[in-house]
Amino acid sequence: MNLNDSMKYIESEYKIINSTNCNLCNANFTITKLDIEFFNNIAHKIYYCSCEKCGKEKLFIFNAPYVSNINDKILINSKFNRDLLNTLKF
Ligand SMILES: [Zn+2]
Repeated sequence: MNLNDSMKYIESEYKIINSTNCNLCNANFTITKLDIEFFNNIAHKIYYCSCEKCGKEKLFIFNAPYVSNINDKILINSKFNRDLLNTLKF
């Protein structure tokens, strides 16, 4: 899977998070941290989010077929963290 394909996955993950509202106050979630973990040898992307209004925490977990090894994990984590620093809203 090339980088473009990977970005499509990541974009759709962002869209899902962006279109999910807090069930307590209906505000949007902000991503505070990203991690990639391997469960049963399948990569999963874990977004730690919190409600921008009331602070309720929520996890979003996606299959991440574009992560095939530990180097991908490091690459995506570092790129994401750089982007997150540049733009706090996507
Ligand atoms: Zn809330």
